[in-house]
Amino acid sequence: AYGPAPESDAEARAWIARHGGRFGHFIDGRFTAPGATFATRNPARGEVLAEVTQGAAADVDRAVAAAARAYPKWSRTPGHERARILYGLARLVQKHARLLAVLETMDNGKPIREARDIDIPLVARHFYYHAGLAQLMASELPDHAPLGVCGAVIPWNFPLLMLAWKVAPALAAGNTVVLKPAEYTPLTALLFAEITREAGLPKGVLNIVTGDGDTGAALVAHPGVAKIAFTGSTEVGRIIRKATAGSGKALTLELGGKSPYIVFDDADLDSAVEGLVDAIWFNQGQVCCAGSRLIVQEGVADRFHDKLKRRMDGLRLGDPLDKCIDVGAIVDPAQRDRIAAMVDGCAEGETYRAASPVPDGCFYPPTLITGLSPANPLCQEEIFGPVLVSMTFRTPAEAVDLANNTRFGLAASVWTENLNLALDIAPKIRAGVVWVNATNLFDAAAGFGGVRESGFGREGGWEGLLAYLKPKGTARALKPVAA
Ligand code: NAD
Repeated sequence: AYGPAPESDAEARAWIARHGGRFGHFIDGRFTAPGATFATRNPARGEVLAEVTQGAAADVDRAVAAAARAYPKWSRTPGHERARILYGLARLVQKHARLLAVLETMDNGKPIREARDIDIPLVARHFYYHAGLAQLMASELPDHAPLGVCGAVIPWNFPLLMLAWKVAPALAAGNTVVLKPAEYTPLTALLFAEITREAGLPKGVLNIVTGDGDTGAALVAHPGVAKIAFTGSTEVGRIIRKATAGSGKALTLELGGKSPYIVFDDADLDSAVEGLVDAIWFNQGQVCCAGSRLIVQEGVADRFHDKLKRRMDGLRLGDPLDKCIDVGAIVDPAQRDRIAAMVDGCAEGETYRAASPVPDGCFYPPTLITGLSPANPLCQEEIFGPVLVSMTFRTPAEAVDLANNTRFGLAASVWTENLNLALDIAPKIRAGVVWVNATNLFDAAAGFGGVRESGFGREGGWEGLLAYLKPKGTARALKPVAA
């Protein structure tokens, strides 16, 4: 209904059709024949996009075996040669950016503007950056060795970007990988697998097994896997931590969040409103580090809420392939119903919904809830949807207390013109990253990750690379030097 015609989905449909609309796994450099399948849908239109194979334990076995066969050669491939292939992959992601972005939007429901301008460029950036690290490993980390076959289990909110966060450092470090994408959004991982062939990645270095949590559990339990890298819910993270305890497997967990967004009365309120729109309504709020708790100083709270409501009313909901859309579809009806049940189940507070008509289908409007007590479940539990709760504070100490009143610790934003105040409170907030007068700043060179129930380990930067390496001291017997 808004502006220019939707982005064409013809190329993405043609790609799916080339595979007969049914996909097997990608193991040892080729697609297997589809087995028992499940449907992956376009949540904005409700239509089935493709059938994807439900991975059984035997499929995981085959994928791990392929990765284990590829490991000796790939791990001994010189870093500069791994770099050459990873640079090539990055360039191919850019070459196929439009197809990847459209397919991501169709499978996930995120606005094409975000897939095109944020997700896919960050994927390319991740491969460029890690290609550079691969090249530097011999000189910078001579006493480190790769781990072996790494298992990756990822969520549906940033399907290809979460793949990149795991696959790029793993391959740069010389590991081979078996990755299980989320069941709602398997398609860009399969397209990416095809692209790795074009890039000349040796067969078996990256394997993709599709399926649900059972497939993920089989990968986590597999004795041939040296490390598990998981991004997803805190609940499943807990299960995986138990499942790997005592197994000797390395583990990194990137889990949920309930990130505070603190606005002081001296902040540039208009910029803080813009930042907040990005913090909570980017990707329909289905973001692990979403600024989902507004903590605003009492004296400006009413003014800030008024500005925010006006801005909310300007947000356009609709078909995510439309380039003018701000808010797309929720990934699946089950997720939308979960969000609605959490909001409807709350007896407290006042709810304000954005004015845009809500299209039929899997949509949920940007929502602001004020007047809740900090102990309310909506202020404590991750909603993972476009729902913002707002609380007020009087003093900086109170702001810090409210910010830390959560079991999570992924990210935080602080808005003030007073740099001393920002520098004073930022270290007091328990979070993996504190953004000042900013939000959602991501870069491949900066380690990202949480504390407390948001998980442990970092992805990105040298720290992220080190999570795919083990120290390997080589001791030589020294002959005593004659005096
Ligand atoms: P989820 O935990 O339900 O699923 C994540 C993945 O784990 C999926 O691929 C799923 O199939 C698989 N899985 C489910 N049960 C499993 C099991 N028992 N063993 C192994 N694998 C299993 O999470 P989700 O709903 O897909 O994603 C949303 C969650 O992810 C949110 O809580 C969000 O905060 C979190 N998340 C965190 C980050 C981060 O960087 N910290 C990033 C994105 C998403």
